[in-house]
Amino acid sequence: MVEITVASREEKEAMAAIQAAFAEIERIDALLSSHRTDSLISRVNREGFRAKVPVEKDIFQLIREAASFSEASGGAFDVTVWPLSKLWGFDEGGRRPSVTELRDAVAKVGYRKLVLDQGDGSVGFTLPGMGLDLGAIAKGWAVDRAMDVLAARGMTDVIVDAGGDLRVAGSRPGKGFWRIGVQDPRDSGSLLFTLDLTDTAIVTSGDYERFFEEDGVRYHHILDPTTGMPACGCRSVTVLAPTAAEADASATAAFVLGAQRGVAFLRSRPGVRGVIVDGAGSLHWSDAALEALARGLRRP
Ligand code: ADP
Ligand code: MG
Repeated sequence: MVEITVASREEKEAMAAIQAAFAEIERIDALLSSHRTDSLISRVNREGFRAKVPVEKDIFQLIREAASFSEASGGAFDVTVWPLSKLWGFDEGGRRPSVTELRDAVAKVGYRKLVLDQGDGSVGFTLPGMGLDLGAIAKGWAVDRAMDVLAARGMTDVIVDAGGDLRVAGSRPGKGFWRIGVQDPRDSGSLLFTLDLTDTAIVTSGDYERFFEEDGVRYHHILDPTTGMPACGCRSVTVLAPTAAEADASATAAFVLGAQRGVAFLRSRPGVRGVIVDGAGSLHWSDAALEALARGLRRP
């Protein structure tokens, strides 16, 4: 679900801009969803081992960015995680795979086995059964593209909120900022804190978005590419960055890395900062100045 808020004196222009932004999000979803069999990504995943598949220029650029982000995160974020996501099947309720199934799927994951041909803008795989999963970056990227559409139509005071992936521009009229709430990962009805923001992306990844429970264990959709298992050690990661794509991918990477290494990773990325809620519910800030901006924080 995506919600777009625009403050403007020109209601008609604002409505038209919002509609154009939604159309752009739908275009991207139709191309990038791994769960639609007719999407470009599904075709790449079906055919990319036999023959490289040419893709739209901007999509090639996104895949390249996702691959270099995979490298930068040491593989904690891995754009080729699809064999594992398919195996767990969180969108169809999910089930715990066998050890053999996990081992087979892990062997098919690895951004280094991806072939990106800059010459003809095509994508291919070096192993059968490989596939792309842009699930941890595409929502953010779509938010960025929607923001571009709104900006091109002169909308300066905007929120694009794709449920956990959010970008703000300008401010609420008369306020000088937009007040954004960050959800408590164990209580969807309450906020951990709020931030007064302008011109930034803020993205939260959590273990509460898509999961199932079996024998009292929570199995959720953010996977550690090295083990194939849901990453443990965090409840949620919230990241601020100039773009929602960067914030989205960074939140997933930090989640997989865990609190200590996750905070170090966020600190290593220019323009990126955030907070990690660990498995015990403690907060780890990458940046003391960000912590100082958090309002309504329950301090122990
Ligand atoms: P949310 O769905 O809450 O926005 P994320 O941005 O972390 O959360 O995206 C999770 C999705 O990303 C999963 O559903 C899956 O499609 C994909 N994914 C899971 N683990 C990884 C990983 N280690 N690297 C890259 N993508 C992942
Ligand atoms: Mg993400």
